[in-house]
Amino acid sequence: MSDYEMEVIVKPEEGSATVLVHGKKGPYHFIQGEGHTNYLCGTCKNVLCSNVERGQIVGIVFKCPNCDSFNHIKGT
Ligand SMILES: [Zn+2]
Repeated sequence: MSDYEMEVIVKPEEGSATVLVHGKKGPYHFIQGEGHTNYLCGTCKNVLCSNVERGQIVGIVFKCPNCDSFNHIKGT
């Protein structure tokens, strides 16, 4: 299992990116899979996606429910 910190970005413009937001405040996993990588918020290290495969998540921005940072995966 490896941890991978996501890159924190500014809020994407409306309609320019798929942004996943969770209504509840606090630590929350958006995606739980069967892979070997955890994706962490670049600000607070909250696990946003657990047990996913590298390359599985493309073009999605995650708004961290813990600290409200916008995160995306570098290199995709
Ligand atoms: Zn966070």
